[in-house]
Amino acid sequence: MVKYSVIIPVYNEALVIRETYKRLKAVMEQTDGPYELLFVNDGSEDETIEILKELAVKDETVKYLDFSRNFGHQIAITAGMDYASGKAIVIIDADLQDPPELILEMIRKWKEGYDVVYAKRIKRKGETIFKKVTAHLFYRILRASTEIDIPLDTGDFRLMDRKVCDQLVNMRERNRFVRGLVSWIGFKQTALEYERDERFAGETKYPLKKMLRFSMDGITSFSYKPLKLASLLGFLLSFSSVIWMFVVLYLKLFTNSTVTGWSSLLMAILFFNGVVLIMLGVMGEYIGRIYDEVKHRPLYILKDCRGVGQKSEKVPQ
Ligand code: UDP
Ligand code: MG
Repeated sequence: MVKYSVIIPVYNEALVIRETYKRLKAVMEQTDGPYELLFVNDGSEDETIEILKELAVKDETVKYLDFSRNFGHQIAITAGMDYASGKAIVIIDADLQDPPELILEMIRKWKEGYDVVYAKRIKRKGETIFKKVTAHLFYRILRASTEIDIPLDTGDFRLMDRKVCDQLVNMRERNRFVRGLVSWIGFKQTALEYERDERFAGETKYPLKKMLRFSMDGITSFSYKPLKLASLLGFLLSFSSVIWMFVVLYLKLFTNSTVTGWSSLLMAILFFNGVVLIMLGVMGEYIGRIYDEVKHRPLYILKDCRGVGQKSEKVPQ
């Protein structure tokens, strides 16, 4: 029986993985029960999997899932939860930006009776100004656009009780925003504040493209506001167009001057077409996600695994 499961998604982390293992091991040895370190290799192209195999041979608390290709960070942690067997489940990044030592404090809170202990970043070290500003804005926009209480500046570094994890693995939505889903589930949640360290080595595995997609997933999963924006904008533009129509008519009928030529016409056409296309794009974001859902493909495909048992029985077939 395992008491604590630690899920570590890894994508091309050969430079950091040994150090991560060492620090996690040192922390988990101080806990009061058997534990597992469940690495999820998200289709790494470097030696990550070889290192994992080597660690798993030496240490039986090391287990891994190996994806057939890169499915993305959020899917990787979902797979980890599908196979985790502990009573408390911790999710942590592999790059040591989330200090493993905080897990001990999380466990303390869990024992006090909290079902979710999430780690809130009060400071980020060694990240670009661009990342800091966009992340700051994103969490605030997300919060403003949804009724669900998604905490600000909080990543996936958290501890969850078994019952929260069971609910989560039951939700098979494809474009997942796990931290939002955890908030949606409810139960007794609390925050621990921490300073986010620099990456131990290597580079971020979240380039701008992935970050954009991730933030769109967050917003579309928890809010219809972008769609409502279309009707609001349509309303405002029609209203102002009517006023403009009256002005043009007045000028035509009661004065000698008419509004001149094709430049104003062209501007109006371009502007309105632009707005229409943007709103079509917003709708497309939602429709694409509906399409992903109806295809009912599996969330991920495993190539290999070691140490793990059956998938949690709560995972729908
Ligand atoms: N990751 C993953 N699949 C991906 C991208 C990232 O499993 O497609 C993992 C990565 O190995 C790390 C965690 O997700 O453990 C967070 O990624 P990263 O540290 O690069 O993101 P950042 O901290 O820069 O936002
Ligand atoms: Mg990181």
